[in-house]
Amino acid sequence: METLLTVENARSRILETVAAQPIDRVGLQDSLYLTLAEAVRSDDDIPPFANSAMDGYAVRSDDVAGGEAVLEVIDEIPAGSVSALTLRAGTCARIMTGAAVPAGADAIAQVEWTEALPDGRVRILRAPAAGMHVRPAGQDAKRGQRMIEAGELITPPAIGMLATLGYGTVAVRRPPRVAVIATGDELLDPAEPLSPGKIRNSSGYALAAQVVAAGGVPLAPLLARDHPDSIRAVIREALAADVLVFSGGVSVGDYDLVKQQLDEAGMELLFWKVKQRPGKPLAYGLLEGKPVFGLPGNPVSSAMCFEQYVRPALARMLGRNAVLRPRHPAILAAATAKVPGLHFFTRGIATYEADGRLTVRDTGPQASNLYSSVLGANCIIHLPEVWTEAPAGTPVDIEWLTWGAM
Ligand code: AMP
Ligand code: MG
Repeated sequence: METLLTVENARSRILETVAAQPIDRVGLQDSLYLTLAEAVRSDDDIPPFANSAMDGYAVRSDDVAGGEAVLEVIDEIPAGSVSALTLRAGTCARIMTGAAVPAGADAIAQVEWTEALPDGRVRILRAPAAGMHVRPAGQDAKRGQRMIEAGELITPPAIGMLATLGYGTVAVRRPPRVAVIATGDELLDPAEPLSPGKIRNSSGYALAAQVVAAGGVPLAPLLARDHPDSIRAVIREALAADVLVFSGGVSVGDYDLVKQQLDEAGMELLFWKVKQRPGKPLAYGLLEGKPVFGLPGNPVSSAMCFEQYVRPALARMLGRNAVLRPRHPAILAAATAKVPGLHFFTRGIATYEADGRLTVRDTGPQASNLYSSVLGANCIIHLPEVWTEAPAGTPVDIEWLTWGAM
């Protein structure tokens, strides 16, 4: 008798067996889309000094409080310089955007509100209020403030903040190396012409790409034939990686040798089969302490199982705070197939209607060999195990399919 796990149980059993990767220090320019291993703090006030938001004149707002005023220009302060002078009553300093506001000044009269006089003085035509166009020190970040949490993805704006804060190098989680192994005597390389009975190895390539999109590093494409020797050899090679992902060979066919060979290699099988469609024969275990996923070979099954199980495992290894994609409520625009007892990962196309509602429909036939059902999808529609049907109008949860590092 077999007991099938629920999707949630399967996922939590995986997540509790994976550990965070070691920490590396990398140059800032190499850190994009890696994951922060330490919280980022500001050692300084940012901006470090009060500076001008405008080209114009640094003034004492009291001097111009009456409206128009004619002031003596005692200095010129380009960005990058500091004035050695202090503004006394009746004086001002020419100042450029980003330059430090001189002592004594408390406002900037933008150049458009001024008129340079032939005698070198300047007429202020409109009075700036105290503080106007002065960017105070510490407005962006306070000294000691935590700016980014450990476990966050290093995005382009994070790079900007890290640079601002003086991080020339960043502590990141080493991206897990993932061996993707396609199995099957029927498989040809994508570059090979078709021959009778053969198909091209799509899952191997798609999964390697999913590894990259999930923040991992795929090993060179590995291929095993449906023969114990071939699978044994590839298992040894794959153990150079941190995670092993097999596609194919985990269902119950006579040639489904992967589980058998992993067992002989000493893998501790943690579960086999999950109440889900596609991807019911999913297997998971630990070999030499490394997570091993046995994904069904059908391209749609392997793609969905990767997104539902391997991707969260890689996120956990990367120390990511967000391990699962968020889900969003939507309304089924048309009925879609459902049987009770299996959680469905139905590929969908979600759209915002003119009235602001998010509606979703499936991508058409959902058979697990039809890769076009994934290609055209922008989301996964989650249809819970207990549902017997999914008619039009049903509220559902969707998960946007984003194929980037996010
Ligand atoms: P299996 O899980 O090995 O029984 O394979 C299930 C189905 O997926 C069969 O139709 C295989 O031909 C197909 N399949 C297995 N591996 C791949 C692959 N790497 N690329 C495309 N199709 C595959
Ligand atoms: Mg096979």
